[in-house]
Amino acid sequence: MRRRPLQCPFCDNYLAPPVDISMKALEITGGICACGAVYALDRMGHNLGEVFLDALTFACKGDIDKAMALTPEEYETETLDYDVHTNTVSRRGGRGGRSGKIIFVRLKDK
Ligand SMILES: [Zn+2]
Repeated sequence: MRRRPLQCPFCDNYLAPPVDISMKALEITGGICACGAVYALDRMGHNLGEVFLDALTFACKGDIDKAMALTPEEYETETLDYDVHTNTVSRRGGRGGRSGKIIFVRLKDK
């Protein structure tokens, strides 16, 4: 499977490696794309549900109540396998479950 540089799945921007970010009560490792999408890293790929919620909250600028109230029609999301050492991603389906995952969330325009 071909690996490619970390890129936004919504606008194809190349992205910086995830960094530690604190926002209100939220602490995530991730970043923000120029198109408004956010991304969050799950280093071991074991906490996807939690990291997904963190990403949603991050997309809502730290407002967890707003994040919890979102319906699936109100955002787009994409999960990719991520290699922290090379800052590259691949579509899921890689060998084993040990790779990190990176979750993208973008709120749709109302
Ligand atoms: Zn983007």
